[in-house]
Amino acid sequence: MEHSLALATEFFSWRAVLDILLISAGLFFLYRTLLRLGTWKIMAGILLALVVFILANALGLKGIEWIYQNVSHVAVLGLIVIFQPELRKVLEKAVSVPPHRIKDQGTEFQALIAESLMKLAREHCGAILVFPGREPIKDKISGGYPLNAVPSMPLILSIFDPNSPGHDGAVIIDGNKLTQFGVRLPMSQTSRLSEEYGTRHHAAMGLAEQTDSLALVVSEERGKVSIFVNGTMQPAVTEDRITEAIVEHQQQMGFFRRDTAPWIRKRTLFQVAASLFIAVAFWSTLMLSQREVVERILPVNIDYTSPADDLALVGEKATEVKLHLTGPKSDIDTLAITPPSVKIDLSKMTKGTQTIIITSENIRLPKGVTLLDTSPQQLKISLAAMVEKSVAITPQIIGKLPGNLKIKKITVTPDSVLVNVPVTRETKNIDEVLTTPIYLESISTDSKLFCKVIARPSIQPVAKRWPDVEVSIELQQ
Ligand code: ATP
Ligand code: MG
Repeated sequence: MEHSLALATEFFSWRAVLDILLISAGLFFLYRTLLRLGTWKIMAGILLALVVFILANALGLKGIEWIYQNVSHVAVLGLIVIFQPELRKVLEKAVSVPPHRIKDQGTEFQALIAESLMKLAREHCGAILVFPGREPIKDKISGGYPLNAVPSMPLILSIFDPNSPGHDGAVIIDGNKLTQFGVRLPMSQTSRLSEEYGTRHHAAMGLAEQTDSLALVVSEERGKVSIFVNGTMQPAVTEDRITEAIVEHQQQMGFFRRDTAPWIRKRTLFQVAASLFIAVAFWSTLMLSQREVVERILPVNIDYTSPADDLALVGEKATEVKLHLTGPKSDIDTLAITPPSVKIDLSKMTKGTQTIIITSENIRLPKGVTLLDTSPQQLKISLAAMVEKSVAITPQIIGKLPGNLKIKKITVTPDSVLVNVPVTRETKNIDEVLTTPIYLESISTDSKLFCKVIARPSIQPVAKRWPDVEVSIELQQ
């Protein structure tokens, strides 16, 4: 319940909304650009890959997930290289500002051009007119002659008159002026346009694929007008259709002032909706997969910080505790790889036996992870005061001497050692430590033996290490 509530707030936070909007905007522009460029197959491939990934994630298919996680970085780099021109265009589009605005809001200008094109078509005079969009076309076109002319039918007919030296190539109409004629356009690089069309149509398609321009073509052979925009070709049967195409293009490019009711095409609306839908689906799957809450029991080590100088930890101490955790799967997985340790701070504790309840304060856990329980839940800790005293080193004699030999004298050097002894019931009366065992069976003459000291762990030498002990045994018959 608590989790679903948290999820709901997450869904409606402004961050989530912004996240989704940015993803949809990115998708929308990428889709539009790629569609125009004929790279939509690659786009479909990417989408398919994404769907497979989301499905694999939902079904918990570890292998596919692994491949995606490890290959995706390389794939992203590859995509950036492949789509470098397209990405550049998307960025250019984001920063470019519309050129001239057309002040006149009537459609006489567009109608005049439509009428001229129909007349050229009837006379079977080939022509191309280009209306640039927001993207610069300068580096796509070449050749041509500058012009700065108000359009009129006689001018347009003169330019495309096959007897005029400037009839080859395209005329550029920027704003409401003819700005160039005799311009060469880039050839289409896709196979969208069938081969029955010649270079003029392929050139118009090329520009419409590579930029957001509108190109109008009059076919010399067919006597027909075609509209090229966004990498598509549509026939223009009537004069009104041409006028409409020009007006529509200029509206979309924002060349008209705002008070013209914005006319959004149904297709655009559909694309926006689709982008938004994909973004929401992608985003929520991502969130859900990251939010999947799991429970796990994790054994971890206990770290004791040393107690104050005059105290010592005595008795048995636990070294491991099992944590019962719950939280997002990704966080819990990370914890399992690098387990935290339970920290018990002994430095502030006083002497005596005390019970420490293990809480989340003893463990550093990531934010979303909760400690449900621990096993054991508490640790019993005994601290004892330490006293420094000198204890005897007693040789640990085992067995009997062979034959009828007897021990005359045993000397231990050193014969005592300074140790720290915790003051507990069992240890406070300790006044000796033993050497490692000395087996008498194997001794038949006076001997010198080298031994180590053995003491319980709570008793430690003041000098930090135990001395080496020499035991000499004198025998007599
Ligand atoms: P049409 O239907 O008018 O015959 P088409 O598509 O069959 O057109 P072509 O017959 O090859 O094309 O037309 C050639 C004319 O197209 C050239 O004379 C020239 O005016 C124009 N043209 C060819 N290439 C380009 C180009 N790259 N940029 C602009 N115009 C071009
Ligand atoms: Mg031809």
